[in-house]
Amino acid sequence: MDLSPGISYFFGQLGKAFLAPGSHISVLSLLSALVISMAVLAFRRYRRGRRIRPGSLLRALFPRHIVFSRSSLADLGYFYFNLFLFGIIFGWALLSYDTLSRGAAGLLTATFGAMPPAPLPAFVSRAIITVMLFLAYELGYWLNHYLSHRIPFLWEFHKVHHSATSLTPLTNFRVHPVYMCVFLNILAICIGLTSGLGEYLLGQPASQYGLSETNIVLVFFIYVYVHLQHSQVWISFTGWVGRVFMSPAHHQIHHSRNPAHFNKNLGSCLALWDWMFGTLYIPAAEREALEFGVEPDREHAHTIRGELIAPFVRGGAMIWGLVARRPESAPLPAPEQERA
Ligand SMILES: [Zn+2]
Ligand SMILES: [Zn+2]
Repeated sequence: MDLSPGISYFFGQLGKAFLAPGSHISVLSLLSALVISMAVLAFRRYRRGRRIRPGSLLRALFPRHIVFSRSSLADLGYFYFNLFLFGIIFGWALLSYDTLSRGAAGLLTATFGAMPPAPLPAFVSRAIITVMLFLAYELGYWLNHYLSHRIPFLWEFHKVHHSATSLTPLTNFRVHPVYMCVFLNILAICIGLTSGLGEYLLGQPASQYGLSETNIVLVFFIYVYVHLQHSQVWISFTGWVGRVFMSPAHHQIHHSRNPAHFNKNLGSCLALWDWMFGTLYIPAAEREALEFGVEPDREHAHTIRGELIAPFVRGGAMIWGLVARRPESAPLPAPEQERA
């Protein structure tokens, strides 16, 4: 049996994930997160007059009870699962980004007439489209995340991410394939329509600035703080900065088991959409005591059965409950209730 295609696919995927500079989990971005978190910890120790030793900083950043927890091992399992199925999952974005983009530009031209090409240097047009597409990505992320928290069927699949009882950068990959499927289609709609709008307004197509095909603004945030959103390093943005940017503490609040924090901070890199739509919770400057993980004592937590298969069973039962319910058996509202 020739194993070489499988082996080359395995190493190809690993290479893309860790070596492509624009990847969501590139070695460079992880190193950047490590340097930033060590600098923050060292500065805090310096202010308290404590000794700064690299060994104690590393032990503080990688405590054994988190690194070797069952939750972190499940994160690792999901990381491999999503890494090697990513190509297939991408195919699940049923809605074509290009078709939506062309359709939106064509509809706007047919409705309002063609726009003359904007008298802008090419780099300005590209910068405008780069920012527009980043905002569209953030809006798509927020919208999918909001629906995943508010629609019980979708929550069954998103709950996998929230069942993590400890947070590490790999928790970012602890997402169910059904969640990814919905997410990619919502992203295709938001980014496709925005691209069409940009093309119409600029009067010509313009391509975004990117690094290994990832929007350069998104890459900036991946290098600066996205990895630390799934960590125990408390870096908190407050005031107006906390209304615009999703600090690591913002997302740690999102994972909190405290009911006051439920369904808050649904954005990715920006808090802007949360602020606009009323789902923002600005974290305190000093560390808040948080516990992570929904239903921590449930059966089969952190296993393939509990985190991959059970959501299909629970989601399927929900759909079956809706389909099997007879309309005539539903109680009719009393007239008074109808008026209320
Ligand atoms: Zn969530
Ligand atoms: Zn998360």
